[in-house]
Amino acid sequence: VPVSLDDETLKQSIEEGLSFATEKLDELDALRRLLNQNDSAKYDELKARYERFQSQSFKNLEYDFDSVPTSRKSPFPERKKAQDARLHLPDLPTTTIGSFPQTQEVRKYRADWKNKRISDETYNNFLESEIARWIKIQEDIGLDVLVHGEFERNDMVEFFGEKLQGFLVTKFGWVQSYGSRAVKPPVIYGDVKWTEPLTVKETVYAQSLTDKPVKGMLTGPVTILNWSFERVDVPRKVVQDQIALAIDEEVLALEEAGIKVIQVDEPALREGLPLRSEYHEQYLADAVNSFKLATSSVQDETQIHTHMCYSQFGQIIHAIHELDADVISIETSRSHGDLIKDFEDINYDLGIGLGVYDIHSPRIPTEDEIATAIDRSLQQIDRSLFWVNPDCGLKTRKEDEVKDALTVLVNTVRKKRESNNQNKPA
Ligand code: GLN
Ligand code: ZN
Repeated sequence: VPVSLDDETLKQSIEEGLSFATEKLDELDALRRLLNQNDSAKYDELKARYERFQSQSFKNLEYDFDSVPTSRKSPFPERKKAQDARLHLPDLPTTTIGSFPQTQEVRKYRADWKNKRISDETYNNFLESEIARWIKIQEDIGLDVLVHGEFERNDMVEFFGEKLQGFLVTKFGWVQSYGSRAVKPPVIYGDVKWTEPLTVKETVYAQSLTDKPVKGMLTGPVTILNWSFERVDVPRKVVQDQIALAIDEEVLALEEAGIKVIQVDEPALREGLPLRSEYHEQYLADAVNSFKLATSSVQDETQIHTHMCYSQFGQIIHAIHELDADVISIETSRSHGDLIKDFEDINYDLGIGLGVYDIHSPRIPTEDEIATAIDRSLQQIDRSLFWVNPDCGLKTRKEDEVKDALTVLVNTVRKKRESNNQNKPA
């Protein structure tokens, strides 16, 4: 939990329902007084405060979950034909996982804009110039499916929390993510609703600059719920499905705006798996259902990607398959052999990209290393389903490292394409 509510400026009616570390100490103290000293004053005060919070009606929206499809119009082989005909991607298509370096400059612009030190116009112009710069970089390198770079996002969950109804964001509610990294999970306090496009402007702008497909980039419902502070007055599954409907609206808004490839990230899907195995099946069924609610409304020719981070897939591989995403990309370089085996074991028959180098190191990979990683995957995965991408997390790297590494990646793939062509019977 974050440290304290003291410096937050939340509405009192909502703050009364929250309790960070300092407030939890107060609660412990209230229990101590009640139990050890038979003094109920503080306990009664906190209890009244929480009852006031609970008496508010946060359940005020109606949802028609059944009206949103949970399976795509056609099975994968048919969708793949439609997508191939539309996207014209080469053998071993290349892409990245979404973010590009969050430089000092990017972070400064975002902070200045948040603190109203620069105008919306100045901020938007800066975002557009960064997007344009990186579209050009990706084109020069020769990637096949481009991304806008996520420069407007502080974090892949907080960003959506800022824009969706039913969420609030705190000022200082930081929690440790890993090592020295921290995130500020948004708080879900009410019914969730999509009220305005979340990512359409940046994605469409990026697409307007290139003939290559630009991949829209969203965070999925399971991950948004797992990495937020959740409400407790509604079952988790319902909250997750509410978020799914909001993401479904955004997916449709992107499709409507001409975006042909849309990635819905679910890095927290495995991490949210309950410890007790008796809860696994239900958790996975709910997760699959929410993901499919969020991604099934599109036309066959719209390509849905998902992404997951380093994790052990063995136990959940069937659920991953049931997501029915046209392409899944997985952070792999730290677990290569094992991971491929998981996918081989079930005969995974949808598109798949396994990270071919470890982005956590500043070292630029060699063509040989990348070629070896590709060859290893191709021993088990059908070439027509295989994508080549780096692992996730490019936002943490320096610009030159990203450019150099992606150049090596694309050059390696080009050679593979050439040698594949030469080996083909005339
Ligand atoms: N699209 C996100 C990014 O590239 C995915 C982050 C993640 O895998 N956790 O940063
Ligand atoms: Zn990842």
